[in-house]
Amino acid sequence: MTAAISIRDLSKTYAGVKGGPPKQALDGVSFDVPRGSIFGLLGPNGAGKSTLINILAGLVNKTSGSASIWGFDIDQHPRNAKASIGIVNQEILFDPFFTPVETLEIQAGLYGVPKAQRRSLELLRAVHLEDKANAYARTLSGGMKRRLMVAKAMVHSPPVLVLDEPTAGVDIELRQQLWTYVRSLNDAGVTVVLTTHYLEEAEELCDRIAIINHGRVIANEPTADLVGKAQEKIVAVTVDRDVAAPPQNACFEKIVLKGMRTLEITYSKDRVNAGEVLGAVQADGYGIVDVSTKEADLEDVFLSLTRAAG
Ligand code: ADP
Ligand code: MG
Repeated sequence: MTAAISIRDLSKTYAGVKGGPPKQALDGVSFDVPRGSIFGLLGPNGAGKSTLINILAGLVNKTSGSASIWGFDIDQHPRNAKASIGIVNQEILFDPFFTPVETLEIQAGLYGVPKAQRRSLELLRAVHLEDKANAYARTLSGGMKRRLMVAKAMVHSPPVLVLDEPTAGVDIELRQQLWTYVRSLNDAGVTVVLTTHYLEEAEELCDRIAIINHGRVIANEPTADLVGKAQEKIVAVTVDRDVAAPPQNACFEKIVLKGMRTLEITYSKDRVNAGEVLGAVQADGYGIVDVSTKEADLEDVFLSLTRAAG
């Protein structure tokens, strides 16, 4: 079975802005988005995420490489490729004088969805906007507009939904509603791609995550594997007397004095365990009053990978 999205050696160089130097936003990017997955494209601002999404959307011309959506090459079968994907752009763009229901009807018309197959009200209900169906778009809040964009991306029932930074400007409660909807679409078989620079978001939602930095893919793995890669663990130890100089031991990667009696010790969990670390502190003559550990999360992996890649 072909991938939902397949990207091969994709590069993009923007011409210089106002006589400035050209900017290479994508540099030989290749990856597949498995059908049925929720796939996270994670990277800091300026990494090239929107450029990649906009190439899929047909809004930006690639410099080289190829991409296909649901098996359709974006150059050879642009109509089929376009019909297979719904894209929610990072920027909110609406005609302020149309109502949500009109916005969806117009979009359905653009995609050639027959009247009998349109489901504008059902879509508005799904994104909790049914009571705004007939309000002007300009009267909607930022979060409402974002949800209307998601509904708009789904009018032609594409098998792939792409959301570019969907939670920017969306408050926590609405964010949860948005994720509930995205999960229900995924449960119904829709492949979802989302870009974000929020690690927790990718970690919570995505089955698989690709990390992009300076236009290059630096990781592409199941979320659990990526998180498991963070080998460093941190333990904060409170001892029973003031520390003049932090103890030294070969099993510590790093030790930092965080207060008169609190030591923060970084160790590598593939080399030693917490018991050995605490034993080393006790061997230095300290009694241990309190201990807390921090599990490695995606942030640790992300930071170490982006640091290593420069
Ligand atoms: P992200 O979405 O990951 O924040 P972008 O794809 O928006 O990253 O941008 C990647 C790089 O390309 C950035 O350095 C950005 O300044 C540059 N860039 C984006 N769009 C343009 C453009 N239209 N013209 C010139 N440079 C651009
Ligand atoms: Mg972006």
